[in-house]
Amino acid sequence: MNPVRHRVPSRPLTDVDVAIVGAGAAGLSAALVLGRCLRQVLVLDGGPPRNAPSPAVQGFLTRDGTKPAELLRLGREQLLPYDSVEFAAGRVTGIRELTGYFQLTVEAETGHTRMFTARKVLLATGVEDELPPIDGMRDLWGRGVLHCPYCHGWEVRNQPLAVYGRAKLVTGLALLVSRWSPDVVACVEDPAYLTANARRRLRRQKIQVREEPVIRLEGTKAGELRHIVFESGEKLARTAVFIHAHQHQRTTLAEQLGCRRNSKGAVWVDKKQQTSVPGLYAAGDTTPGTQQALLAAAEGSAAAININETLTREECPK
Ligand SMILES: Cc1cc2nc3c(=O)[nH]c(=O)nc-3n(C[C@H](O)[C@H](O)[C@H](O)COP(=O)(O)OP(=O)(O)OC[C@H]3O[C@@H](n4cnc5c(N)ncnc54)[C@H](O)[C@@H]3O)c2cc1C
Repeated sequence: MNPVRHRVPSRPLTDVDVAIVGAGAAGLSAALVLGRCLRQVLVLDGGPPRNAPSPAVQGFLTRDGTKPAELLRLGREQLLPYDSVEFAAGRVTGIRELTGYFQLTVEAETGHTRMFTARKVLLATGVEDELPPIDGMRDLWGRGVLHCPYCHGWEVRNQPLAVYGRAKLVTGLALLVSRWSPDVVACVEDPAYLTANARRRLRRQKIQVREEPVIRLEGTKAGELRHIVFESGEKLARTAVFIHAHQHQRTTLAEQLGCRRNSKGAVWVDKKQQTSVPGLYAAGDTTPGTQQALLAAAEGSAAAININETLTREECPK
């Protein structure tokens, strides 16, 4: 059953009320709330989520340990009753702000492009991790190479662990990881920058500092880490290494509209998840702050509520 739509005489009629770009935890959660508001929604699904290489989503209430693809499958299954929510496979490659609405360009896998219009847009496009250019990093990403002890620390508790990265970030991460294991080694990319204070703090936690360049990670075909190999050829047996990967936005859509972003490139939002461009909202990893699937879903939900309230205000003027 299609919802009864309010018509807003002063505004152009668009294809949908809301376009959601990205069908990860943030996008699906927003789609659920907007579907329940009988909003006409199009969700554009551009491919796998950020955590696709990981065996499980941890720390997600009621879904702890669920495979990433299964979490999203359940999310989409639960959207089936809401027939005002539609999905389309394809990447949104362009966005234009017109008077009171947005025009989006979607590229399908076939290369075919089409345009459609929406009154509000939610960017839930996430980020992409940039891994250090070391042999084996990419192959072991998500299993032997980990990014977050809150997501994976419990699974590798009390095991021989390492932390790899630049002096500026490695100390904090190593101290954090030492909560999960008494055997942590810090492999520092630029040891000349490791301050005496940082070295003292690491020593106090019995965290050994390794200063030689790492040239390779060795692991199993299943993605488990076995050894960190140093330039000298020495091998250090470890079961996981935590890194602080740089990241970038998965799309340039916020840039295209000149949205305000922070120094790390994350899309700034106000308390209602609205970006600096009115009518354009953002949720999940694409925005600043802690990156977790449950938090992304919560932001998606908050964005959806605020979008629906804004649309309602536009439809029911004073
Ligand atoms: C290896 C790894 C393991 C992790 N493990 C955990 C964990 O155990 N627990 C936890 O809470 N968090 C974990 N995380 C973090 C978690 O993955 C993110 O916080 C979460 O996925 C953010 O959800 P999101 O919806 O914002 O983005 P994503 O899940 O990345 O979804 C974004 C979606 O947008 C799509 N998209 C991007 N650009 C476009 C476009 N132009 N057009 C259309 N679609 C587009 C993408 O294809 C993707 O489907 C992990 C992260 C990594 C890297």
